Amino acid sequence: MKRKNIIILLSVFLVLIAIAYLSSNIKADRCPGCNVLLISIDTLRADHVGAYGYERSTTPNLDSLASGAILFENAISQAPSTLPSHTSMLTSLYPSEHGAEIWSYLGGSKTTLAEILKSRSYSTAAFVSGSQLNKSYNLGQGFDTYDDSSMEKNAGNVTALSLDWLSEHYKEKFFLLVHLFDPHHPYSPPEGYNVFDTFNDTKSVVWNASSLSIEDSTGLLLGIRSGRVNITEKELEHLISLYDGEIRHADYNAGILLDRVGKLGIANRTIIIIVSDHGEEFKDHGGMLHSHTLYNELLRVPLIIKVPGMPAARIGGQARLIDIMPTVLDALGIAAENLRGVSLLKTTGSLDAYSERFGNATRLLAEISLSTGKEKIIYSIQRGSKRIFDLESDPKELVDIANSTGAIGLDKKLSDVFSSLEREQGKSVINKEQEERLRSLGYMV
Ligand SMILES: [Zn+2]
Repeated sequence: MKRKNIIILLSVFLVLIAIAYLSSNIKADRCPGCNVLLISIDTLRADHVGAYGYERSTTPNLDSLASGAILFENAISQAPSTLPSHTSMLTSLYPSEHGAEIWSYLGGSKTTLAEILKSRSYSTAAFVSGSQLNKSYNLGQGFDTYDDSSMEKNAGNVTALSLDWLSEHYKEKFFLLVHLFDPHHPYSPPEGYNVFDTFNDTKSVVWNASSLSIEDSTGLLLGIRSGRVNITEKELEHLISLYDGEIRHADYNAGILLDRVGKLGIANRTIIIIVSDHGEEFKDHGGMLHSHTLYNELLRVPLIIKVPGMPAARIGGQARLIDIMPTVLDALGIAAENLRGVSLLKTTGSLDAYSERFGNATRLLAEISLSTGKEKIIYSIQRGSKRIFDLESDPKELVDIANSTGAIGLDKKLSDVFSSLEREQGKSVINKEQEERLRSLGYMV
């Protein structure tokens, strides 16, 4: 054999060895048969999490997890309110498709992550704490245990229930969803967690914000949103500090759960996901609360995924909550079909993020948006108008450039997604009592 041929053969051999080595590494990166712990912290803006650059120490436990996990810097929720957002996480469908928003429940024909895992012999449980996730909305599909007994209680309740369940099931393959409600208003950090607030104006209209009932808190915050109640910068800072204290308490409880996973000796076979369903506005665009816009203070949320054996990373490209289910299934080595999202373990680059908002009073789709990560379009179905933002030069979405840019590509991307939706016509499930509840939470005005 000629020397040249020997070199070619040797090169091919080396390439084959390299491919085999890389393939085995990719396999090793996956986690077949692993447990899944999904912790959803309601109403948590990404920019109030330490690992996302917040200057206050709101989240020491999440930060510690993030340092050894994959952190998605630009994770976008598909809806700015609790039920549609969680349902998108657990079905990998857009809100119009799964049909679960405040007026309607999840249709039985949709497949949830819990159902797939249950069919694979997983023990499945969810402990939730917001009325938007109560049993009647059907998000319990596929969960052996769906506990909604902690409605609007602080994270300690849900954490204790989750730890009890974990102590009984940690030797089995499990999927556990824990939903912590603390950062949701009223902004009332428990004793010992009001650690960021220095406000002392006892005559202020927001002085007693931390001791208000949920109904009164909604009234105050809607008053501020509408301009009926005027507040100063210092008063706004007071509300933000209380909110941050609640985040600290949710983080403390998330830390207890993460610590228990370690103590039970299952950290090396448990995939951990930390996420929020939506953010919260503090006058970023003049408003308060959530569910009323598609701006990023409501859509950009933390997303931290720890897969045993996978190295830590920070991913700058855009990710979406509909990608959680395919990512989990990919990590477990389970094939999946008919999902809108993609596995974030396979994706490089930025994913276009489509989101929807329903009108509280009309019950109809009010706004839709699409963000490429560099630019974003928000289209108002009610008004028939659009706003466009350059997220690179204007990340806070303050300067509408719709009149000065063609943005033909963005328009097309938005309409392509919108026209491809397979809409689910949900049925209303709420009664008078639930309607009052939604009103007190600020979901109906
Ligand atoms: Zn929520």
